[in-house]
This record gives sequence, C-alpha cells and structure tokens, in this order.
Amino acid sequence: MMTKGIAMQNIQRTEAIKNLDTVIEKIEKARLKVDDHHIVQLVAISKYSTSNDITTLYNAGQRAFGENKIQDLKQKAQELDELPLSWHFVGSLQKNKINNLIDLNPALVHSLDSLELALELNKKLEAKGKKMNCLLQINSAYEDTKSGVMPEIAVDTFNKIVKECPHINLKGVMSIGAHTDDKEIIKQSFELTYDIFAKCKDATICSMGMSGDYELAIECGSNMIRVGSALFK
Ligand SMILES: *Cc1c(COP(=O)(O)O)cnc(C)c1O
Repeated sequence: MMTKGIAMQNIQRTEAIKNLDTVIEKIEKARLKVDDHHIVQLVAISKYSTSNDITTLYNAGQRAFGENKIQDLKQKAQELDELPLSWHFVGSLQKNKINNLIDLNPALVHSLDSLELALELNKKLEAKGKKMNCLLQINSAYEDTKSGVMPEIAVDTFNKIVKECPHINLKGVMSIGAHTDDKEIIKQSFELTYDIFAKCKDATICSMGMSGDYELAIECGSNMIRVGSALFK
C-alpha cells in the first residue's frame, strides 16, 4: 500500500510539471504574436491545491503563487516558509481582514476594487508604517457577480488612489474576462482593460487571463496571467 501511494504521488507530480510546460509553451507562442520583447509573468493560482503541489511547481522553477482567501494564503505561506516564493492575493478583500493581509506581506494584491477600500487600506498601512503593491481591479465585463470599478471611472479612480494613498504602490490594473464562451465578448473585455491600462500613468502591470482565456488575454496585451486549474488539475 505504501509504495502504491508513493507511486500515485509521483504520477501527480509529473502531471503538474507537464501542465506547467504546456502552459509555458502556450504563453511563449501568444507573447511572440505581440512582440519579441513582450514579457508575461505567470502567477500560479494555488487555491485548489496543496502545499505539496506548490513545492512540485517550485522545484520546476515556478516562483509566483496566488491565493484568493487570506486564511489559505496565511496557511500555505507558513507551511512553505523556507521557500523563496512570491505570494499574490487575488480574492476580494473585506475591510475587517485588511490587517491580516498587511501582516502577510504579499508581493502583490490584484484585487483593490474601490477608492473606499484603497483609503481604508492606506490608513491601516500608514498605521503600521508599511507599503503595499496593488492593482486596481476593473469590472470590464460589467457583470453584477464581479467586483471592480466600472470602466468609465477606472482611470480617474486610479489617479485618485495614486494621489491620496501614498502607502499604496499602485502598479497597474487587473480584470477577469467576461464569463461566456463567446470569444469576441471576452476579447472586448480584455481590450477595454488594456485600453484603461494604457491610460493609467506609470502603470506597468496588466493582470488578465486565466486558464480558459490566457492566450487571448496575452494577445490583447496582458503581461501577467493568473492560471489555476490548467496547472493543478
Ligand atoms: C481562481 C482564480 C484564478 C484562476 O482561475 P483558473 O480558471 O482556475 O485558472 C484567477 N484569478 C482569480 C481572481 C481567481 O479567483
């Protein structure tokens, strides 16, 4: 029984590395369609997987991982404390969890979704004498189920956060593609996000694209993708 268990684990490990190779190859093809110098960062979203899976991908060279729940981020970051990972937070942030998030020192928070939240976060960062790298989440598909600022006010909100929140390093924008099988509609939501990104002064990160649509997102200008199920399936 023991050996069978270990054999199963090894098969799963090989599978994860194969998935990583496949994703990296697809990123490469998509980014070259944009430009030789268009670099795309892969954030492996580990919310459906274990610290063991993360270690497997780490051993294959992956360094950036993301979670959508503070509690999970805390637990996995602690379990994998000895590895030099960079942790991203991509979930919606409740005000009563802000201090917990600050204490985890994430490399990047993708989900700053209102000016109000930014002001609150800034206040708490100031009190702790810290800074945080963030992206402004935009609801580019106009979906009620999604968080994010509306596209019409996105640039203005971006500028206000930069001006009023000195403890937030606002690095760019994040968006989730439209929830549909219609590629044209998904593409429109990505193009709209990229357009806003291009208008935000000094923005360097355009985070869009998940397992089902990252190639399209890259072709629309994304330079950071968040891939979960395609890696950890
Ligand atoms: C879960 C999640 C992802 C990854 O989704 P997959 O479809 O599994 O690749 C990306 N971004 C956010 C904000 C998520 O919550």
